[in-house]
Amino acid sequence: MTEKRRHDIVVVGGGQAGLAIGHHLAKQGHDFTILEAASEPGAAWRTRWDSLKLFTPARYDALPGMEFPGDPNRYPTRDEVAEYLTDYARRFDLPVELGSRVRALRSQNGGYLVELDDRTYEANQVVIATGPFQTPFVPPVAEDVGEEVVQMHSTAYRSPETLPEGRVLVVGGGNTGFQIAQELSAAREVHLSIGSRQTPLPQRILARDLFWYLEATGLIRKTTDSRIGRRMSRRDTLIGSTPRRLRRRYGVRLHGRAVGAEGPTVRFDDGTQVEVAGIVWATGFRVDHSWIDAPVFDAAGRVVHQRGVTDAPGLYFLGLTWQHTRGSALLGWVKDDAEYIASRIDAFQPTGAGDRELATNESQERS
Ligand SMILES: Cc1cc2nc3c(=O)[nH]c(=O)nc-3n(C[C@H](O)[C@H](O)[C@H](O)COP(=O)(O)OP(=O)(O)OC[C@H]3O[C@@H](n4cnc5c(N)ncnc54)[C@H](O)[C@@H]3O)c2cc1C
Repeated sequence: MTEKRRHDIVVVGGGQAGLAIGHHLAKQGHDFTILEAASEPGAAWRTRWDSLKLFTPARYDALPGMEFPGDPNRYPTRDEVAEYLTDYARRFDLPVELGSRVRALRSQNGGYLVELDDRTYEANQVVIATGPFQTPFVPPVAEDVGEEVVQMHSTAYRSPETLPEGRVLVVGGGNTGFQIAQELSAAREVHLSIGSRQTPLPQRILARDLFWYLEATGLIRKTTDSRIGRRMSRRDTLIGSTPRRLRRRYGVRLHGRAVGAEGPTVRFDDGTQVEVAGIVWATGFRVDHSWIDAPVFDAAGRVVHQRGVTDAPGLYFLGLTWQHTRGSALLGWVKDDAEYIASRIDAFQPTGAGDRELATNESQERS
């Protein structure tokens, strides 16, 4: 029989979103736990490429209650973020249970059952903070590429040495594709396939960082129900680079969308083709909520929610891309949604039988 434990609130995921909500729950004095699949904190950051630098300066990388250390104008590295998150959990003594992957979440008697391999939790309320970038996505065209080509998703790319010698192709016109293509261009011929163009924005304007302007103008907090928020959410932004700059300054050769492949040759929708030794698919992620058994998804599998609050009583999401604003999935602004969800959790009035059962068990335990 698997072990059963009980908490008033269970948070699934111990990244920045899980820790930010944990901070508020601890302040409110709630009984909660944070279940984190990975064996160390800051896991998502540790799996990103070695040279990654944030596109947000340190002054905008802090979670509630603890400044990001060092010069506020610098752009921290991947490892600094992982360390910051580790220190954050320690500083506020947050109850993060590492190595705890949640396999299933079900409703039960008005509350929730959170199932792991070796144990199960009962909870009145659950926050899903499992991140906006979960399952690496690679387009079907990858299957037609010959076996002689070394292919990997950007999550497997660490540094130029990860790839074989010779000409390489990076697929994906977002920040990840641009940064990896630029890094690779230092020592070899690089081709970049851009399927859809993103809006390029400069990293710095008149000696100030882009995010200073987004904050000062209030754009970072424009919500998805405003006209400008809706417009912004439709198109991703490419920060600190442009196709022209990548081509001129770094010599990267640009192509359209990758549409076919045979052996080592990849074809693009602009009629060009190239023979390569390696490919990095910087083609994004899909979310995987298949383990959640609750009526909170639309026909396309998207979470139906109002600022992270679902129609299932006591079930919340935190850290989704554009959950409420552009800042929702960013280090420095996830605190706004976290604070909101924490206030809803605090005001929650449990009515279900599951809660009555929990309350009874708790009073039995105490007596
Ligand atoms: C390449 C890249 C660069 C980025 N750069 C920046 C930047 O410069 N500035 C910025 O503000 N943002 C940046 N972001 C966006 C964002 O800050 C990160 O994606 C961040 O990791 C999201 O935090 P999160 O807590 O929502 O999710 P994650 O960091 O993904 O954390 C989710 C956690 O949930 C755990 N988990 C998942 N499923 C389960 C389960 N079933 N059971 C238990 N645990 C589970 C995972 O192990 C993970 O630790 C970047 C994102 C990417 C991909």
